Amino acid sequence: MITGFNREAVLDVIQSVLSREHGAVSLHEPSFNGNEWAYIKECLDTGWVSSVGGFVDRFETDLAAYTGVKRAVAVVNGTAALHICLLLAGIQADDEVLIPALTFIATANAVSYCGAIPHFIDCEERTLGVDPHKLAMYLEKITVQQADGCHNRRTGRRIKAVVPMHTFGHPVDLDPLLEVCRHFCIELIEDAAESLGSFYKGRHTGNWGRLSALSFNGNKIITTGGGGAVLTNDEELAERAKHLTTTAKVPHRWEFKHDMVAFNYRLPNINAALGCAQMEQMPGFLASKRRLSELYLAAFKGVAGISFVTEPAGASSNYWLNALLIDEEFVTERDNLLALTNNMGIMTRPAWTLMHRLPMFVESPCMDLSVAESLERRLINIPSSAFLGRDTYATS
Ligand SMILES: *Cc1c(COP(=O)(O)O)cnc(C)c1O
Repeated sequence: MITGFNREAVLDVIQSVLSREHGAVSLHEPSFNGNEWAYIKECLDTGWVSSVGGFVDRFETDLAAYTGVKRAVAVVNGTAALHICLLLAGIQADDEVLIPALTFIATANAVSYCGAIPHFIDCEERTLGVDPHKLAMYLEKITVQQADGCHNRRTGRRIKAVVPMHTFGHPVDLDPLLEVCRHFCIELIEDAAESLGSFYKGRHTGNWGRLSALSFNGNKIITTGGGGAVLTNDEELAERAKHLTTTAKVPHRWEFKHDMVAFNYRLPNINAALGCAQMEQMPGFLASKRRLSELYLAAFKGVAGISFVTEPAGASSNYWLNALLIDEEFVTERDNLLALTNNMGIMTRPAWTLMHRLPMFVESPCMDLSVAESLERRLINIPSSAFLGRDTYATS
């Protein structure tokens, strides 16, 4: 008799959603069903594959129009975008930057590139992202305001910014988080790498602070092969982002002059061409992914010991990666479920190892991380490619 969690039952449910004819199913595959070939051929035909060409400008314009942010600056990857956001926000060596313990390594790496120290904060289960109320109570206890801003009274270091991350596309509760930022004089920088197409209270994620970062890595909702973008509503910051990511070259037809040490982070034109074709398909990707999430939600209703993660109230998620949470009492079954599904050719994976457990960050400051630790034990991502949710696929 089945009284609780049953991994065979979970596998059955996943298979019922994915249809049965497929072979192996990966976690997230890109879809290239639009103008990708035409635009890339145009790059090849004209020779404009690298640092000059029209697709970069167009991609930046498309991103700005889609997100409602004034300016987008395309860069080589999302990590570089985060790095530039942090530098432009004035993060300096020995500052502390608050980031969720539950995130991809890029968030913590970007902080480290600035010589700053990541300070790990907890999540709430509802959003899988930063818990603003728990953060406020924590900052109340450990910070003191000084002339140059908020300081950690335990370490003496300045706490300059918080970088919330919209996990799997589900928006963080931004209104109360912004309230915390104002109260403690901390800047908000969104890691929106996973949340292109996700909205909080009708406004796009990545449009809530001065600066935010997107990623177009191969597994993201749209891809440029590798790529990212800095988003900002501040024209001057956008110009500085452009300058910092293009070796600080002073524009001139033939002279090579650079006015500061900067980065070669510019997105090549051939990658931007892919991005332009992908942006045209965003509405279709979003619809397919939403449909897939609805199929999963319906299929997992009433399945014991496990629940399907849905978008938080007030938000519209892109459902980039679908996720399940196993009830705490059955966490010992997680690895068995991972083994069973992966052995059956259905790719699933656990949450990232929490940042404070990684060898280079064990000494970093952190708050009580009990919710992130619980999510780490219980979370499983399941196949989420857009094509899995297309009408023609799931009904065939
Ligand atoms: C993908 C991702 C990034 C950026 O990764 P790149 O591979 O450098 O584009 C940053 N943060 C999070 C949370 C991500 O998922």
